[in-house]
Amino acid sequence: MKNDLKPETIAAQAAGVTDPATGGIVPAIQPSTTFIRDQDYKLVNPANLYGRDDSAIARDVEAVMARLENAEASLLFPSGMAATAALMRTTANGATIVLQSGIYWGTTKWVREFCARRSIRLVEIDASQPDLLAASISAEKPALVFVETPSNPWLKTVDIAAAASACKSVGAILAVDATAATPVLSRPLDHGADIVMHAATKAINGHSDVLAGMLSVRDASHPVWQAIRTDRHDAGAIIGNFEAWLLLRGMRTLPLRVERMSQNAMAIAQWLDRHEKVVGVFYPGLPGHEGHAIAARQMQGGFGSLLSFLIRGDASTALRFCGGLQLFHRATSLGGVESLVEHRHTIEGDATGVPPSLLRLSIGIEHVEDLIGDLGQALAAV
Ligand SMILES: *Cc1c(COP(=O)(O)O)cnc(C)c1O
Repeated sequence: MKNDLKPETIAAQAAGVTDPATGGIVPAIQPSTTFIRDQDYKLVNPANLYGRDDSAIARDVEAVMARLENAEASLLFPSGMAATAALMRTTANGATIVLQSGIYWGTTKWVREFCARRSIRLVEIDASQPDLLAASISAEKPALVFVETPSNPWLKTVDIAAAASACKSVGAILAVDATAATPVLSRPLDHGADIVMHAATKAINGHSDVLAGMLSVRDASHPVWQAIRTDRHDAGAIIGNFEAWLLLRGMRTLPLRVERMSQNAMAIAQWLDRHEKVVGVFYPGLPGHEGHAIAARQMQGGFGSLLSFLIRGDASTALRFCGGLQLFHRATSLGGVESLVEHRHTIEGDATGVPPSLLRLSIGIEHVEDLIGDLGQALAAV
């Protein structure tokens, strides 16, 4: 497939993959775990030896992803956390990791326990403050800096270019979890990040029916990338072929879905912002959002499907509102075609400082008037 094509074209045609054996315009699912050798003991297809190494369909997904990210290479994992863990495990004992505070709780919890186990110094800071982040990086001289932008559930924005230059001056690797943005809205590698991570479980698959994770790299010869490759190959964190096939199918409509989800989310953020029962809305597309200027610089075509807001009232008001919704599903996760509402305080308790009045919405591709109608009737009833 030509090199100068737009993301919509690359995604729709899965970077040109077909099934030459049958002429199918989509690839076949090949579930075999082992591959035949000929009479001279040569592999019939040298790319395929054993199912734990990787698979043709996983390589197809990685090829699409690398093109969408403007990456030299991508690696697919069986979940977002498996991708993050593979990256973190490359950090040497005794080294330092700088981690953004107030991000996806699963990441924070795993990294804290991992660092304690491996005698790695962990520094958690509010990376949405560029000066604070730069000062921390030059003081701590970390091996790895891990940020999430926009962050979940606060929708904070990290200035990727500023973080990258601070990392460069001390030789740290900058990794960005860009799950909430997707490669359609933001390509962190273009802004100087070394590695970008995605929970492909979310908008990249987009249909709430596949768990997957992805790492992509700016320079595939980097020793850390080589270590991640080796770790995946030898430790066996491999996605199943059926899941990879579904993921490739979901990705064909990624740009279209993200465009509609972002338009809907923007309209809903503006509507909530004017509502008398709403105290505050967190969405990087709103001009009043703390990180709006940075987000506008490093995102294109929209600000994503994720937003949070504070309802006027307490935990019981928030839960009554949740209970009154008829279209939004009450469920965790984000980035699917169907809209979801989540009350994070119920799940996390007081440990992480998420207030009881905070509600997180993942906006889908339904008609925006239906979504606003549902939010309106539920707010009116509390
Ligand atoms: C869901 C999520 C993850 C973890 O991905 P899984 O596929 O659930 O393991 C990591 N980061 C962010 C921002 C997420 O939303």
